[in-house]
Amino acid sequence: MENKNTKKQNIFLHEEENTINWEDTKAVFEKNFGTEIYNSWLKNISLEKEYNDYIVLGVPTRFFRDWIVSRYLDKILEIVKRFKLSLSRIEFKIIDENNLNNKKTAENSIDEISKISEIKDSILNYNRLNPNLTFDAFVKGTSNEVALSYSKRVCEHVSRDNPLYIYGGVGLGKTHLLNAIGLELQSNNNVMFISAERFMYHFIKSIKKNDMVNFKDFFRKSSVFIIDDIQFIRGKESLQEEFFHTFNSLMDKGSQIIISADRPPMKLDRVQERIKSRLSGGLVVDILAPDTSLKQEIIKKRILDIQLQFNENINISEEVINYVAHENKTNIRELIGVVNRLIAFSRVHKKTLNIQDCRNILKDVISQVKVITVDKIQNVVSDFFNISLTEMLSQRRSRPLARPRQVAMYLAKKMTTRSLPEIGRRFANRDHTTVIHAIKTVTKLSEQDDEMKKNISNIKSLLMEE
Ligand code: ADP
Ligand code: MG
Repeated sequence: MENKNTKKQNIFLHEEENTINWEDTKAVFEKNFGTEIYNSWLKNISLEKEYNDYIVLGVPTRFFRDWIVSRYLDKILEIVKRFKLSLSRIEFKIIDENNLNNKKTAENSIDEISKISEIKDSILNYNRLNPNLTFDAFVKGTSNEVALSYSKRVCEHVSRDNPLYIYGGVGLGKTHLLNAIGLELQSNNNVMFISAERFMYHFIKSIKKNDMVNFKDFFRKSSVFIIDDIQFIRGKESLQEEFFHTFNSLMDKGSQIIISADRPPMKLDRVQERIKSRLSGGLVVDILAPDTSLKQEIIKKRILDIQLQFNENINISEEVINYVAHENKTNIRELIGVVNRLIAFSRVHKKTLNIQDCRNILKDVISQVKVITVDKIQNVVSDFFNISLTEMLSQRRSRPLARPRQVAMYLAKKMTTRSLPEIGRRFANRDHTTVIHAIKTVTKLSEQDDEMKKNISNIKSLLMEE
């Protein structure tokens, strides 16, 4: 990548660059796709080469590539583009670890030995039950009471209603219920709790390692098999085949199966009919979006939990609780996030919040989710001050150019996770000390100068918009 010649040769086609921070990008993958998908599929992707209009990503196998391309590519491109607007496509390179391994026979035999314990270890690592997600911690409401009572019933009479299938939208409590069932049953049963994503990951890994026997044994010995987010099983025939056999053999030996999904069995997309009909064969129950009263209860419970945890009184008024319950969308995960934030704010500032405080804090929550890039800051700032981007990045030091440049550096530090040297590099390879100077200057000016204060706040809101 540092080869100047290559760079020259390519200059008219695709200029080679090196501006994407891959770790940052992957952090956004994890946030957007969730930990399951991230750990299974995205964590090991490497950034091999970067050009101004495309990037080359390294993946371990052809299968990996196809899988990623068919499911995640659009979103991956969208995310990487936030870091680099000029990108228009992604290419893949297979980095064949098998070939590498074959050269090292000694390592191969170690591989053989560790193979057996591997499935077990990685499942234990990724599929621990969360001790906090109990039935006691689950607040009952009109939208979830049937799902809750069926879940409890399964715990009382294992294998009577089989399978139990719980479905509903994101963040409504499906994983929480599955987890609660697992906790309840684990003392007397061999409980297996796994997401469909992970199940598939192990399946593929076992095929690759020629280790299907272990895979089958491992999953089929459970007496309670809990599988989360089954909608991910779509596509791949061979996987569905395996899942179907696992499912049948568990049912045959009387194991309890509990399944969650984002939709009813018959609506599962690209899933074999026979699987759908087996999934519908037991109890099917949905969780609906919470009504206001459930949201209020959940908020109150969260406040109580935190009071107990910190042993201090937390003042959140009834008015604020109602406001949040009405204002917040249908997703309980987000609702809890908002409440945590309000409580943290109120504790730090030792303040009883009013509605206006909440509005401000919530606005902040929303804008925090946005990813703001140095590119974007440079564009918005140069637009705002009516200068061209080239001028802003140039070496000229006249104030009408230098100020906007400093403002942009200041905002880059405040609003992105880039380090000082990185920011310097993005401003036509300036030194990090120049960035520090810019930050100091703008900080001081924004304290003393009303005009500057106003400008910064206007630019910030421009950046938040979109
Ligand atoms: P899903 O799996 O349906 O996407 P989760 O089970 O992960 O949703 O729930 C999201 C968050 O909301 C979790 O922190 C969970 O504990 C919480 N939650 C959901 N429903 C309830 C409820 N009825 N009572 C208490 N917490 C809940
Ligand atoms: Mg879930």
